Amino acid sequence: MAFNIYYYESNVVCKFCKKRFTTYKVRPNRYKLVEEHTDFMPVYEGLNPLLYEVAVCPHCGYAYHKSMTRTYGPFMLLIDELYIKELKKPVNICQERTIDDAIVSYKLAYLVSKASMEEPLLLANIAIKIAWLYRLKNEPEFELRYLDSARDFYSKSFASNQEGNERIQYLQAELSLRLGDSKESKKGFSRLISDRSTSNKYRKLARDRWENYKYNENTNESIY
Ligand SMILES: [Zn+2]
Repeated sequence: MAFNIYYYESNVVCKFCKKRFTTYKVRPNRYKLVEEHTDFMPVYEGLNPLLYEVAVCPHCGYAYHKSMTRTYGPFMLLIDELYIKELKKPVNICQERTIDDAIVSYKLAYLVSKASMEEPLLLANIAIKIAWLYRLKNEPEFELRYLDSARDFYSKSFASNQEGNERIQYLQAELSLRLGDSKESKKGFSRLISDRSTSNKYRKLARDRWENYKYNENTNESIY
C-alpha cells in the first residue's frame, strides 16, 4: 500500500487457515488517551485504536484478539465445527473500520472464544468492549445487553493476581450500577471499601464512585 499517515499494515498469518493477510492498525502518534469512563472505557482524541484490536481473516473468517489463548490443536477443531462451518461468507474488514465494522470484528472474536471455551474473564473483556462501541454509537439498549453479559462473565472470573481480582470485583459493582441494580452494586463496592486487604487504588475508586452515585441520586431527588 501507499504510505498512510494514519494507519500501518500489520502482517498476520491466520492461526486457522495459515494464509497471510494484512490488517490496519492505528499509528501510535495518531491517538491520545484523554479520559476514562468509570468502567474503564478509554476515550481517545484522534483515531480510536480500540476499533482495530481484532484481526479478522478475510480468507476463512477466523477472528483473533491478542488475549486469546485457545488457538491451537483441539480447540481449532471446536472452532471449525462451531464457528467456521456456520459462517456464511467471511467479511473483509482489514482496512479502515467504522464502529459497525469494529462491532462485527468483536462479535466474531466473541463467537470464536465461545466455541473454544475461553476463560470467562476473556469473554467478559470482549463483551464489555462491544458495549463500549455501542456507547460510542449512542445505542443504550445494545450497550446494556452487552454490559449485562460482561457482568455475568465477570461474576464467574478469576485473575491470577490481586490487582486483577480487585478489577473484576470493581467492574461487577460498576456494571451493576449501570444496569440499575444498585443493591448488588452497593454490596460490591462496600466489600472493596471495607476489606482491609484491598489496595488503596481500588478502595479509592470504589469509594469515589459510590459517593458520586449517592450524591447525584440525592441531587436528582431534590430537583424532581
Ligand atoms: Zn484464515
